[in-house]
Amino acid sequence: MQSVETEESYVGSIFQRFPVNIVKGKGCKVWDTRDKEYLDCMGGYGVALVGHCNDRVVKAITEQAQNLITCHMSVYNEVRFSFLKKFNNISPRNLQKSFFTNSGTESVEAALKFARKFTGKSGILALNGGYHGKTFGSLSVTYNEKYRKSFLPLLPDVKFVSYSEAETIFEIINNPENNIGTVIIEPIQGETGIIMPPPNFLKTVRETCTNNDLILIFDEIQSGLGRTGKMWAGQHWEVEPDIMCLAKGIAGGVPMGLTVMRPKILECLKVGEHSSTFAGNPLACAAGSATIDALTDDGLVTNSEKIGKIFKNGLLDLKEKYKIIRDVRGLGMMLGVEMRFDVKDILLDGIKNGILLLYSGRNILRLLPPLVMNEAEVNESLRLIDILIRNEEKRRFG
Ligand SMILES: *Cc1c(COP(=O)(O)O)cnc(C)c1O
Repeated sequence: MQSVETEESYVGSIFQRFPVNIVKGKGCKVWDTRDKEYLDCMGGYGVALVGHCNDRVVKAITEQAQNLITCHMSVYNEVRFSFLKKFNNISPRNLQKSFFTNSGTESVEAALKFARKFTGKSGILALNGGYHGKTFGSLSVTYNEKYRKSFLPLLPDVKFVSYSEAETIFEIINNPENNIGTVIIEPIQGETGIIMPPPNFLKTVRETCTNNDLILIFDEIQSGLGRTGKMWAGQHWEVEPDIMCLAKGIAGGVPMGLTVMRPKILECLKVGEHSSTFAGNPLACAAGSATIDALTDDGLVTNSEKIGKIFKNGLLDLKEKYKIIRDVRGLGMMLGVEMRFDVKDILLDGIKNGILLLYSGRNILRLLPPLVMNEAEVNESLRLIDILIRNEEKRRFG
């Protein structure tokens, strides 16, 4: 583990890290320095959406790198234009204008600023358990106290509510003192442990926002682009937001984010009121176009639904088999397995056994496999997870 130690001495220990040194990836698999193969159910934290080194993405980046790598938004570019046209074909119907960013948190920052400008109101309603990033604005609407507490004060007018408090939401919005203009929600909460909203929740919130002229932001950074078996997680409840935040897998692994919105929201901003130097650079746009092609032309959204069902059913079978599994939930390739105990040993055992898994909190296994996963790879993942959970049960109960 020579290079882990070396890296640590330069980057410190801000990231929770796993003792594995990855050098190569293809599809659902990655390899370490000793050429050991791993099934990647961590999926690069959801970034390896269309698979590691997706052929379309590799080709697009390789060709684009030879033509033009940087091109500021202050000039026009055909590669960017063609990405925008392609994205428009998959975008929710009323969300026809976009602001380019370079990461998830930046997409949220843009959304919060644009909503503020449009509504003229500083109050924001966010959800208990919501995760939107760690820069000051997005951190202000992120719930977890662990991330917030050392950085107070954050944005002042944020109110948090839980899913079960649909009436409280009403009260908060109707109280003029709160000056609420914006509601921000992850349609399915990722970071917090694949938490699904109650059946009518998103529809009720949508109606409330429409009736009160509030901007509804969906953070689909993790749940979007086919992850849940539909292009957008909001579609499972037939709800369309006013602004949608994207990042993670949108450019096949190249850093890129997008804040997509109703045209009238973007149109209320004046020149210079928001910007980003790397925004809409041709390398990311070429990779983004290739990613959309992979999602649509290679049928990855359909695959996510089909394979995700098989994966979830397999996990539900494991829940019947092992009492240390408390719950299995999620849609498509966004799955969570809630355990009765800390999952740290399971993750480390996974590395030993050739499978990378992600965690949420202390006791939830999170699975964000690439959407290119096939049935054989799902079955192999399930076989390995079965072994890991059996080992954990032995460790706990002998
Ligand atoms: C990952 C994530 C973010 C933050 O994205 P970064 O690129 O790490 O800033 C925000 N919201 C959700 C839902 C995410 O999953």
